[in-house]
This record gives sequence, C-alpha cells and structure tokens, in this order.
Amino acid sequence: MRLILLGPPGAGKGTQAQRLVQRHGIVQLSTGDMLRAAVAAQTPTGLIAKDIMANGGLVPDEVVVNIIADRIEQDDAKNGFILDGFPRTVPQAEALDVLLKKKKLKLDAVVELRVNESALLARVEKRVTEMLERGESVRADDTPEVLSKRLGNYREQTEPLVHHYSDKRKLITIDGMMPIEEVTAEIERVLAAVTKADETAQAAKRKVASKRAAKPAKAAKSAKRAPAAKSKAKAKSKAKRVVKKAAKKAAKNVTKKVAGKAAKKVSRGSKKGSKAPAKARKGTRKTAAKAAAGRGRKATKKVAKRPSKAAKRLTKRR
Ligand code: ADP
Repeated sequence: MRLILLGPPGAGKGTQAQRLVQRHGIVQLSTGDMLRAAVAAQTPTGLIAKDIMANGGLVPDEVVVNIIADRIEQDDAKNGFILDGFPRTVPQAEALDVLLKKKKLKLDAVVELRVNESALLARVEKRVTEMLERGESVRADDTPEVLSKRLGNYREQTEPLVHHYSDKRKLITIDGMMPIEEVTAEIERVLAAVTKADETAQAAKRKVASKRAAKPAKAAKSAKRAPAAKSKAKAKSKAKRVVKKAAKKAAKNVTKKVAGKAAKKVSRGSKKGSKAPAKARKGTRKTAAKAAAGRGRKATKKVAKRPSKAAKRLTKRR
C-alpha cells in the first residue's frame, strides 16, 4: 500500500502514520524527520535545510524530491510506504507523479487530515510539553511564531494539493478533530473500501483479459471480416432507404393524382364518384409496386391506404 498523509502541522500525521505502519507493515517516510537527521549529521543537504527549517520555510523542491526518489528505492519501501510531509507543493506532487509512473508504482490514496486551525497551536504546545517531559530536545520550529509561518505555508503551498489529488480521484478527507482512535478507525474504514473497489476493478480487468486471450483466433477472424461486413451492411441499408423513399414518392404521386381525379369526378356530380376510392387504391398499388420493384412493400401499402380515405372524405362532403 502506498499512501500520502496530508495536513497542516499538528494535524496528527505523525501519530496516524505510526499506526498505519504497524497495521500494514509499510514504512513511514517523513521528509521532516529525514531533513532533521540530515541537519544533525551536517550533510550537504542538512546544511542547506538547517536555517530554512528553523525559520519555518520550505526546503527547495529538488532537494526533497531527490531525497524521496532515493528513499523509495530502498528495500524496506518495497512493500509500500506512507509519505508524511511530502509532497508539500504542486511541483513536488508532479515530480512524485512522474517518479511513481517511471517505477510503475501505484499510489493507493491520499489521506487528508482536516483540522480546525484554532486547535493547532494548542496541539503543538502540548507536543512541546510532552517532548520536554520525556527529556527530548524540542524542535527549533515548534514556537508560536514559526508555527504561524508554517501554517501560512501550508495554506498557500500545500493545500492546493487537495485539488491535485481530488482531480486524480485519490483524495480521502478525514475529520482530524475526532479523538485519535476514531481518526484511525475512520482511515482504516475508508482504506478498506478503497482496497476492495480496487480489487474488484482488477478482477474485472483480468476477466476481460483472460476472455480475450482465450479467443485469439476468433477475435482475429472477426476483426478481419469486420470491415467488409460493415461496408456490406451499410450498402444494404442505404439501398433499402433509397427503395423505400422511391416507393413512398411514387405512392404519394399516384395518390395525389388519383385522389384529385376522384375528387374531380365527385365534384362533377357523377355517380361514378363513389367508385373512385376503389380505383385510387388499385392505381396506387400498381404504380407504387412498380417503383419499388417488389421491395419496400410495407411503405407502399401504408401510403396506398391514404387515397381511399381522402377520396372517401371528399365523397362524404358532397
Ligand atoms: P510539520 O510538523 O510542520 O508538518 P515536518 O516535520 O513535516 O513539519 O517538517 C518540518 C520542516 O521540514 C518543514 O517546516 C520544512 O521546513 C521542512 N520540510 C519537510 N518536508 C518538506 C517538504 N516536502 N518540502 C519542503 N520542506 C519540507
């Protein structure tokens, strides 16, 4: 499983990451931790990062991208990982997209921990107190001033990633204001649903692939035949349409003529007018049948019925 944890400082990313590590047997890759280690070891990266971090700024994209590119190559990350604190900018996210694509690795989900900003300062203060109680050294950037700068950076640079990943349909937003246990349970619940949906999609894909593989000869044969069969069918339906049109037109013409004749006769006051419908029917059928050359009979019959009605109507009116 490959995850990203997204959230402002103090959202609880570290806490939830540790729980996910235990549950899923994957590694937590925290750029903050790696950079702090680099600072402590005074590596070239550490020397670049030291002051930036202390002031609550962001370390240059290429530095963190390189760190992550190397880290996900290592053996312990083969089983999956949780990225904590990375990506933090849109260019970092884009670089990660490229990196994962190149390595043919799939990102399963991005878990966003959404929290109320007013609660963050209190959380960070609590973290500082607890660290001091444990005798640990406190982070240089865990002061109220630097925290507000880190928060500003998050809003400006990192929050746009919410759109980046929701566009990719990877985003899961969890209410980070719930108690720790509940946040964990909710993350697990949603991840289980994502995994299940993925498995179903994979199974469907495999089914289609195996069906295709099972009938390669048949598929090839029908593919070969397809264009010819298609054009034949097209020509046939076009011919049908032309014949139908011709039959309709012919029938209409005859209908008009015969109906007109019948009407004339009726208007002349001839007794023969009452015979007109029969004549009209006869003439229409004959001519239309000729035009249709024995085809499109249905259409002909339909139109052929009209003259008798028209004639009848005229006869009645008189
Ligand atoms: P937070 O608790 O504020 O999320 P982290 O421990 O993740 O802090 O990171 C601490 C500091 O390390 C950041 O304020 C920043 O200076 C630097 N840092 C960590 N990750 C990144 C990153 N992906 N891009 C740039 N800077 C980073």
